[in-house]
Amino acid sequence: MTKDALAYIGLGSNLNDPVVQVTYALEALGEIEGISILETSQFYTSPAMGGPADQSDYVNAVAALKTVLSPRNLLQKLQLLERLQGRTRGPRWGPRIIDLDILLYGDRIIDEKDFQVPHSCLHQRAFVLIPLFEIAPDLIMPNHGKLSRLVDSLDSDELQLVRN
Ligand code: ATP
Ligand code: CA
Ligand code: CA
Repeated sequence: MTKDALAYIGLGSNLNDPVVQVTYALEALGEIEGISILETSQFYTSPAMGGPADQSDYVNAVAALKTVLSPRNLLQKLQLLERLQGRTRGPRWGPRIIDLDILLYGDRIIDEKDFQVPHSCLHQRAFVLIPLFEIAPDLIMPNHGKLSRLVDSLDSDELQLVRN
């Protein structure tokens, strides 16, 4: 029997009603065979960082999930869901309907040409670290140590909670 792994996924959108897109992706993720969602953060909004100028603000969230899928299989499922939700390939860090990144996969460290876990920018991004901290305040991460230490060093003025 395959053992369950605890993985954290980052979700982001800045097109076609981002709150609706992130909500839809969370529901769809939970329906994928081999994935069950344990917890989801609140939604946060922040201005776009990098990429083309004049993009709309982003909505981001983080989900904790249990999965029997391997890291690669999980990545494939996330990419399929991105496509099903209508994401098309644009410029790097350009506007997108939905972005699904594997932030962490248990204690695994993966460093391949097209796949890095922990996610290569995890430790620098307030819109990832703050929702992650909300659902996993005691997390100790491979390569980065205590999540709380990274959160303390953030300058996160630009991140706002999305109020429903
Ligand atoms: P960033 O990775 O800086 O957040 P992005 O999410 O906009 O940028 P994408 O265009 O969505 O980047 O993805 C580019 C490639 O990143 C994907 O084809 C995938 O192979 C690769 N990738 C590497 N590590 C990961 C990961 N942990 N989760 C998701 N994709 C990853
Ligand atoms: Ca991303
Ligand atoms: Ca991505």
